[in-house]
Amino acid sequence: MGSVKEKMQNFAIQQALQYIEGNPEENIPKLMALVDRFSPEGWYQSQRSAVREAIRRKDNWYQLILRVYELDPGVRKAFFQNFLMNASLKGSAVQNEVKEREGCNVPWAILLDPTSACNMHCMGCWAAEYGNQLNLSLETIDSVIRQGKALGTYMYIYTGGEPLVRRDDLIRICEIKRKPGPF
Ligand code: SF4
Repeated sequence: MGSVKEKMQNFAIQQALQYIEGNPEENIPKLMALVDRFSPEGWYQSQRSAVREAIRRKDNWYQLILRVYELDPGVRKAFFQNFLMNASLKGSAVQNEVKEREGCNVPWAILLDPTSACNMHCMGCWAAEYGNQLNLSLETIDSVIRQGKALGTYMYIYTGGEPLVRRDDLIRICEIKRKPGPF
């Protein structure tokens, strides 16, 4: 169970996210202000500046940010909550502890390739060269996430190959209740 402070932060984030639903052009700057407010001081400062600059210039990256508002509202809410509460706020605090204790950097996000299989042949992509037989087992994916969470990494991005070839296992991973951690 989270601390009282965590619960209050979680509640504040949920209230703020509810407030900024709708009217993306008006609300994306507010969303960025929210990220700045809840991010630890100095946390990915240059990346956050780049996002702020994209919003100011309304460039191609801004168009990509706008597409977040094309997502299902429930998915968007879960993404923002996980991004702000788990990956940014809670995760970075644990990462800093580990960094000091172990003298090493901890990644903010971990990219996994659940499979090399893909039926496309995009130029420059390695997937077609590796065939369709390279797969991480469900147990291996789960183990990577468990180990990562112990270090404070709460953001996992599936690439590939086509990750949805492993759809059933990825959904199973989401269903597995892991402890300790905020999921
Ligand atoms: S994995 Fe992605 S980039 Fe690579 S071939 Fe498939 S669709 Fe294209």
